[in-house]
Amino acid sequence: MTAALDPQRTLRELKELRALTSDENGAQRVAFTTRWAKARDWLREKLEELLLEIHRDEAGNVWATLAGESDRALVIGGHIDSVPNGGWLDGSLNLLAGLEILRRINTRYNGKPPVSVRLVDWADEEGARFGMSLFGSSACSGHINLAEAGRLQDKDGMALIDALAEHGIDFERLRDSGRELQNAEAYIELHIEQGPVLLDLDLPLGAVLGTFGVERHVITFRGQAAHSGSTPMKRRRDAFLVAAKMSPESYRIANHHGGVCTIGTCSTLPGIATSVVAECRITLDQRHLDADALAKMLEEARHSSERFAKEGDVSVSWERLMRIEPIPFDSELVGLCEEAIRETCGAAHRMPSGPLHDAAEVARVGIPTVMMFVQSLHGISHNKIEDTREEHIEAAVIAFDKLAQKVMQRMV
Ligand SMILES: [Zn+2]
Repeated sequence: MTAALDPQRTLRELKELRALTSDENGAQRVAFTTRWAKARDWLREKLEELLLEIHRDEAGNVWATLAGESDRALVIGGHIDSVPNGGWLDGSLNLLAGLEILRRINTRYNGKPPVSVRLVDWADEEGARFGMSLFGSSACSGHINLAEAGRLQDKDGMALIDALAEHGIDFERLRDSGRELQNAEAYIELHIEQGPVLLDLDLPLGAVLGTFGVERHVITFRGQAAHSGSTPMKRRRDAFLVAAKMSPESYRIANHHGGVCTIGTCSTLPGIATSVVAECRITLDQRHLDADALAKMLEEARHSSERFAKEGDVSVSWERLMRIEPIPFDSELVGLCEEAIRETCGAAHRMPSGPLHDAAEVARVGIPTVMMFVQSLHGISHNKIEDTREEHIEAAVIAFDKLAQKVMQRMV
């Protein structure tokens, strides 16, 4: 039998799903709603044509398995849920490309590939209704915060626990879904980029290095209020001046380490035109793919704030608002991903992911993981104008299939 991959079928199926679950404002497949369940039924029918073993785990993730000669599994992931008024590709491209790859592998190996290949539709990646992103994958990885999840309600006051029960999911057993990853030896995920990097480089596809870590702090400088006319410049303890001096320094630090940083807010007290600023608060958000580099960025920014504060005779204090660990993907799989892209389009780009994805949850439990990004037109997502050129979608299916084949061969 010839094994034919048909990327145009993926395009047709994406449009079919759009027609079934979108309205004039975009995709309406919010998790734990009837339209989401309808989308899942539609996908299940397609999977059933392949005679796969299909079941839903304790967290509501759906797993379709093409059993191979070995139980060791290559897992391909995506999510059929969307945000309200969402785009047609976010999450569903991953699943429908994965479905096409399952068809190709099924034909090529006569229903019995050397290793098992599994497609997972993660439940509620977006967290659109209850505010908890990566619900199904974090339940599966065991990192879900159950205390927090147990308190969540939607805007109508319905508890997440009750919405889960409506869909046959027992809150007490969520983490039992972790057993699904027992035989997983590799995880791959295709996703639209949702940003402008590939568009600006004029490249269709990129190999994702991992997801950014985040350090977010509020920094408060305290000096002294004083009359703007009667206070000589050399007598001032100007909190704003110190914050202002620190700002370009923190950008220089981020540049030096190859990360990014943003001073997103700045407020002053007393906040009137005729007083030297007594108190200035800024927020500093720093991001990097490498934990050590991120720690250095933080340490150097802290030192610079102390140095400028001393020079300006003001005090400075730092308070952490949030911290997320960087999650690097598997370097060997990143290499295979780059190879698959080069073979398909000639040029590849290695890039970090700003947003978190289900893949990060899988990588956190130590399963070798990689993602492939396909260019987003307008660099926009979570919006009905989200789009990708059809030839890029086809190239993505081809390159992602090559990646799947390379990973399988490495597992044998
Ligand atoms: Zn997504």
